[in-house]
Amino acid sequence: MPPGPSQEEIRRQNLGALLRHVHVHGATSRAELTTALGLNRSTIGALTADLAAAGLVSEGAPKETGRAGRPSPVVRPESTRIHAYAYSIEVDRLRAARVGLGGVVLDRRELDRPRGLLVAEAAPLLAGAVKEMQQQVPGDPVCVGIGVAVCGMVRRDDGLVRLAPTTGWVDEPVGAALGAELGADVPVTVRNVADVAAFAEHARGVAAGCDNVVYLYGDVGVGAGIIAGGRRVTGHGGYGGEVGHMKVVRDGERCECGSRGCWETQIGEHGLLRNAGRSDAQGREALLAVFDAADRGDARAGAAVRQAGDWLGFGVANLVNIFNPEMVIFGGTMRDLYLAAAAQIRSRLNANALPACLEHVRLRTPKLGDDAALIGAAELAFERLLADPLDNG
Ligand SMILES: [Zn+2]
Repeated sequence: MPPGPSQEEIRRQNLGALLRHVHVHGATSRAELTTALGLNRSTIGALTADLAAAGLVSEGAPKETGRAGRPSPVVRPESTRIHAYAYSIEVDRLRAARVGLGGVVLDRRELDRPRGLLVAEAAPLLAGAVKEMQQQVPGDPVCVGIGVAVCGMVRRDDGLVRLAPTTGWVDEPVGAALGAELGADVPVTVRNVADVAAFAEHARGVAAGCDNVVYLYGDVGVGAGIIAGGRRVTGHGGYGGEVGHMKVVRDGERCECGSRGCWETQIGEHGLLRNAGRSDAQGREALLAVFDAADRGDARAGAAVRQAGDWLGFGVANLVNIFNPEMVIFGGTMRDLYLAAAAQIRSRLNANALPACLEHVRLRTPKLGDDAALIGAAELAFERLLADPLDNG
């Protein structure tokens, strides 16, 4: 029989479990932690003391409960001190945030991003946003890492952005460029935006408690963050989830990936604007204008929205049949399309998905909204801390 985990390993796991609990659920009483973690009171007390000594949590008096007896002290994450920096690199904007332990956005910056901006041009802008926030951090802050969400295919091993068709980036070491600009002495983790947003919604958003989730994120392109059996599914190299490049029309419209007939040529920005007769426009505002026009009775815009909604339902039916999710979340521009064409999506889904797979699926918009990318990117950085709290604390 292989030897069991050592005392030290058990302690590390318990420290991680306790810190993770308050990170996800916020202030929690010692009594609730005892129940939630299945550990006795003295162990919870000792673990809390260790985490408090490392400055990761604090203990305080609980709110008045009105109940008799000595109230149990409440354990809180040190959200203003322990933090991560998060980036979301999107087609039309660059966002940066300082996110505290517990998933609280403490500060943020947003910049417009001209399409075609090179990595060498973007990195100093992104670094500048974080440096500006760093100057305003009060007290004795501890940055545990930097997480980056990118709209593109990201190699899991080293965060190399292999292809971001909508931004023109190919084989770009985005994480290394950012780390160098920042002079960072903490790890920089880069992942795909849909994967990262799914991570956040699963950890603390609309999909909390759901183990099988498809999160569709749309901008110019469309990608999915997939959670199956409670785990993020990103494939061998990290490139999985590129559902926007499912081929749905043989020899169809040309896609930015170089192929033809991809799903995103029907439901992404270009397809919707093309069908609405507005090919010369671009960006989210242009898309919102189409939804707005459809709403006001513009026939061509209405037809374009219904057509895109039908195609969205068509692809979601395939995803539902493949992954049997309990929830499909529509994020980014897919949220706008879902809200504008829910009837077409539902109708196509009912016609094309297998009844058994459709039984328990819920269609939802993100609880964390656009912040999912930032909060999820910060989660990437917090993961290391939660795996071994006192090593980093
Ligand atoms: Zn494609």
